Amino acid sequence: MSSKQKFPGSRSDEKTAKIVARNINRVYHIKSKLDDQLTEFQAIKQLDLTVNKGEFLAIVGPSGCGKSTFLDMIAGLAKPSSGEIFIDGKLITGPALDRGIVLQGYALFPWRTVRKNVEFGLEVKKVPKNQRAEISQKYIDLVGLQNFEERYPHELSGGMKQRVAIARALAYDPEVLLMDEPFAAVDAQTRESLQEELLRIWEKTKKTIVFVTHGIDEAVFLADRVAVMSTNPGSIKEIIEINLPRPRNDAIRSSADFGWVRHKIWELLQNEPAVADKKQLSDQSVAESISTSAEL
Ligand code: ADP
Ligand code: MG
Repeated sequence: MSSKQKFPGSRSDEKTAKIVARNINRVYHIKSKLDDQLTEFQAIKQLDLTVNKGEFLAIVGPSGCGKSTFLDMIAGLAKPSSGEIFIDGKLITGPALDRGIVLQGYALFPWRTVRKNVEFGLEVKKVPKNQRAEISQKYIDLVGLQNFEERYPHELSGGMKQRVAIARALAYDPEVLLMDEPFAAVDAQTRESLQEELLRIWEKTKKTIVFVTHGIDEAVFLADRVAVMSTNPGSIKEIIEINLPRPRNDAIRSSADFGWVRHKIWELLQNEPAVADKKQLSDQSVAESISTSAEL
């Protein structure tokens, strides 16, 4: 198959491109709870992005710029209003086991132990029991959770739950890992150690990672390239190459090069205000109308 057929309209090289998003638009129809009127809200407009094989790409942008909406589309959990996303030249039409997903807030199965959570994807793939045990142990060890295999999620700290979610996503060996602010809910120190662990895993397993964050430091520390999103409507504003040496360790965070690139991204984000949550806005108008009518 020629590269033209594989990635129609894309100039990217088929040998290096893993994910190609082409002219993505996403419109939400927001219903006012006051008068049932529908208004259109364009969350994402004409977004184009190519992620290379084995690349660690971070997406940064203010709250509400469409990061999660875009990641959900790559995951196949949401559909663009128009435009297409390809993985290995194949159009994404829904979720599949070629993509591991780590979303915000852990989303572990509370009734399953650590081991059973990690084995979930392997069960779906019908991997035999003894192989499942072997594979799950490998990833539990990789994320440093040995001796916690039989614990339930409620018996773990936030950072440990996040490690389980990462082990679960990695265990069935997806080529692509999609992570949506995975470390947002843990304390700063745990976050830094999870970042270092993730880099270690990525260097070992050579996966393609798309990592959404609103943390500039986090993006610079982890990524090969950082895609900076603009708001209202959401789109890719600029892509910054991070030429910091690898393997990266804690010391790099205080280097001059790190500070320089962090500042460059910070400047790009300066004129990008956070977007108010449209769903909350419609709830607010209901609250306002209730308080107004109470006054009357
Ligand atoms: P981010 O992850 O960058 O914070 P999101 O992708 O969650 O942003 O949201 C982008 C915009 O789309 C926001 O303004 C949000 O309010 C809006 N939005 C997201 N989901 C919906 C929905 N189901 N209905 C209406 N608006 C939505
Ligand atoms: Mg989000």
